[in-house]
Amino acid sequence: MPRKEADPRLAMLVDGIVRLSRGDLSSRMEPSAARDDVDAVITGFNLLAEELELVHRDFEERVENRTAMLHQAHLDMRTMAMTDALTGLDNRSALLGKLQEQLETEEGTPPPAIILLDLDSFKDVNDSFGHDAGDRVLQEVARRLLGAVRDTDTVARLGGDEFAILVPEATLEIALRIANRALAALGDRITLAELHVFSRASIGVRLADPRQEAESILLDADTAMYAAKREGRSTIKVFEPVMLYQRQLRSQIASELRDAISTNQLSLNYQPVVDLRDGRVLGLEVLVRWNHPTRGFIMPDEFIPLAEEIGAVVELDRWVMAAAIRQYSLWRTELQLDDDFQLRLNLSAVELQQLDLVDYVRGLLRRFDIPPAALVLEITETALVTGGEVETYSLLSLKQLGVCIEIDDFGTGYSSISYLRKLPVSMVKVDRSLLNELSTGSIQFDFISAILQLIRAAGLEAVFEGIETYDQVQKLQEMGCIGGQGYYFSRPLPVEETTALLRSAATLPLAS
Ligand code: C2E
Ligand code: CA
Ligand code: CA
Repeated sequence: MPRKEADPRLAMLVDGIVRLSRGDLSSRMEPSAARDDVDAVITGFNLLAEELELVHRDFEERVENRTAMLHQAHLDMRTMAMTDALTGLDNRSALLGKLQEQLETEEGTPPPAIILLDLDSFKDVNDSFGHDAGDRVLQEVARRLLGAVRDTDTVARLGGDEFAILVPEATLEIALRIANRALAALGDRITLAELHVFSRASIGVRLADPRQEAESILLDADTAMYAAKREGRSTIKVFEPVMLYQRQLRSQIASELRDAISTNQLSLNYQPVVDLRDGRVLGLEVLVRWNHPTRGFIMPDEFIPLAEEIGAVVELDRWVMAAAIRQYSLWRTELQLDDDFQLRLNLSAVELQQLDLVDYVRGLLRRFDIPPAALVLEITETALVTGGEVETYSLLSLKQLGVCIEIDDFGTGYSSISYLRKLPVSMVKVDRSLLNELSTGSIQFDFISAILQLIRAAGLEAVFEGIETYDQVQKLQEMGCIGGQGYYFSRPLPVEETTALLRSAATLPLAS
């Protein structure tokens, strides 16, 4: 058989298979016009290559999709780790990261500033209206803060009711302008369904020192915020190094306070409450003082909040209650006080949360044979509206015991009179800031008169505190107000002077 010449298509086939095996899936061959067996193999080869190419492409696409999904999941996770779930704002880590970035910008760029905001009395909202309401208030606060800043600023929620604003390339002036805008944005009350709350804030501002770490800037802003809080609501404070010292001093005093209660450094002063119609002394308010061995007299406005912070206020209030009721019982026998002569005690909000409060009060009244109706417990408005289960139990049981409950500092909180009507209280003490504002002309006589009428309409009796002038006495008399208290009649007096006053005068002069 003559040797046939090698079919060139076979060489082409071998070449095609080699290319295919190397991964060139586009490799194809033209079948010849002969359409013989070899061409059948070539067509088979083409089909196989086609199939391989499709499978491969499909595979590539799938890998690409998976990779994209993985990448997105990674991004989502990073956003989640950097976002506050409730408000959608940056969280603490995100803020610290951005602050650090700002600190690392070129020399000569103005430093960033941190504005730290802590909502005032947010705990009351949570306690009184539930966590859902609290959450919605936080979301609304976030929305308002975002509206108050510029595009280049970052708003973050650090946790709880604490927010921060990062102002890049700031000056103190710019930072303060933004802080003021934030404060104004929070100024309007928040209305959520039936709930109206004011969510004001205390604000600390720290213009960064470029050599500082991000954490330390945040800490300084927090110290300034803490100083703002001390000064009252809706205050802005710029960080000063002395604040660190003050904060340290306060925690020093706080630790000394525990000893003070057990080592008799506390003493009591008494201030008369009088009948504005005839000057008769209706009772005494007990006001605690701290006679510190080295720091001298410390006033309750300074150490009661500290006692609250360190959880010593219940112990303090119990000490005051016991000492005052003992003294009162001595006066009752010595000076033959009437049964309706009132002993007025200030009670902290946390006392109402103590399950044994009622037993403690009942025990003291029995032991010293005091008629329950003679005891008036002055409790601040915010403490009363908290309305938790234990608080409600305490209030109702005290009322059942026959003790009078009075709303103290009325006019400084956010509760309406119609709400107070639902509480088991019988008296209202109108905060001294109201009389103050009357004398400065920032509120009018008619306004106070209307408040008195509302209190009366709710079936309650009112005492006005902070009476300092005869003019105020006359105005209150004109309104038909009965109870009054203030420096005009007497300053709070130590026990001997109070004894002398009660001995010499059952009534105090109304006109000077
Ligand atoms: P508060 O219950 O509003 O007591 C009235 C405060 O006003 C007292 O201040 C009193 O000295 C002062 N004051 C009385 N008359 C006048 C006046 O005519 N003008 C002015 N400007 N002030 C007047 P103090 O004694 O410094 O007490 C401050 C606060 O400390 C009290 O405010 C009360 O909330 C709290 N506190 C006092 N003693 C106790 C206590 O034993 N337990 C508790 N939990 N709180 C107490
Ligand atoms: Ca009081
Ligand atoms: Ca007051």
